[in-house]
Amino acid sequence: MDNDSGAETRLHAKAQAVYALLKQHYGVPVFSGCADPMEELIATILSANTNDVNSGRAFDQLQTAFGGDWDAVRTAPLAAIQAAIRPAGMYNQKAPAIVATLERVKATRGDYDLRFLAALPVDEAMAFLTSLPGVGHKTASIVLLFCFNRPAFPVDTHIQRISQRLGISRRRAAPDKIKAIWEGLMAPETFYPLHIDLIQHGRRTCQAQTPRCELCPLQALCDHYQRVGEWAVTGEG
Ligand code: SF4
Repeated sequence: MDNDSGAETRLHAKAQAVYALLKQHYGVPVFSGCADPMEELIATILSANTNDVNSGRAFDQLQTAFGGDWDAVRTAPLAAIQAAIRPAGMYNQKAPAIVATLERVKATRGDYDLRFLAALPVDEAMAFLTSLPGVGHKTASIVLLFCFNRPAFPVDTHIQRISQRLGISRRRAAPDKIKAIWEGLMAPETFYPLHIDLIQHGRRTCQAQTPRCELCPLQALCDHYQRVGEWAVTGEG
C-alpha cells in the first residue's frame, strides 16, 4: 500500500468510526422530509448568519405578512419584505436576494414548485439551485438533503469546525472542500443522519470557543485533542 492510499484508507476508517460513535451518542435521526422545498429554500436564505430562533421568527413574519403567497412577496415593495424579515438580520441583503430568487424560479419554471428537483440527477439539481441569486452550495445542499434526502452534504460552521478539528479535512479547509471530502468518504444514505448528528455534536460538545473535550466520545479520533486537548483537559503535558 503506498502512502497516499494508506492515508486514504485511514481517513475512510476514521470517518466511519466518527459516524458510528456519533450514532451511539446522539442516536440515528430519521429522515422526515420538508413541507415545501420553496419554503425550505427561503427559510435557509433567512438563516444565514443568525440563529434558528431569529430566522424562524423572520420566516413566520414573512408568511404572515404575505399570506404564504410567493407572487405577493416577489412583487412587494422591498421595504415591506425588509420589515417582515428584520429579526433575521442582514435584511437589506436578504430581502433583494429572496426577490431575485423568486423572480428567477418564476421565470424559469412558471411557478414556485421545486418538487421537480427530486427527479433530477443530483448534480443537475445542485446546478439549478446554485444558479439562483445568493444560493450557494450550503443552501442548495440543505434543500436537497432535507427535502428529498438526496446525496448532498451541507457544511455549516459546526461541521466545518468539527471536520477541521478531527482531521477529516485540513485545518483551514473551506466548506466546499469539506463537503466534497465527506461525500467521498461516506455512503449517500448516511448523509442525513451524519449531518444531523454532527450539528448536535457542534451544539452540545464541540463548541466553537471552548470544546468540551472531556465529555467527547470522539477524543481518540480527534487530531485537535491529540494536539492540544489532552493536556488542556488533564493538565498533563
Ligand atoms: S475531542 Fe474536543 S475538539 Fe475533538 S471533536 Fe471532541 S470536542 Fe471537538
